[in-house]
Amino acid sequence: MSSYEIACDDSPLKGSTLMIEEVPVLIFCSGCQAARPVSSMHLFCCAECGQPSSEVVQGKEIEVVALEIEEWAPSHG
Ligand SMILES: [Zn+2]
Repeated sequence: MSSYEIACDDSPLKGSTLMIEEVPVLIFCSGCQAARPVSSMHLFCCAECGQPSSEVVQGKEIEVVALEIEEWAPSHG
């Protein structure tokens, strides 16, 4: 049992699933001049060359995904 399940026990969220890794985070790397996956969710550095970047090009959706219970409709983007 995860901490999330424990937190949701005896709440309307009981039985729901926390979705936290559905959307890969991509940053724009100035070193590679391309969108790259991050090496770490905490550091936001290019997984290819290690260049740090705060320019997130994809992955902000993760805030929504993490709270989604049902009716997830990836239509906009
Ligand atoms: Zn890079």
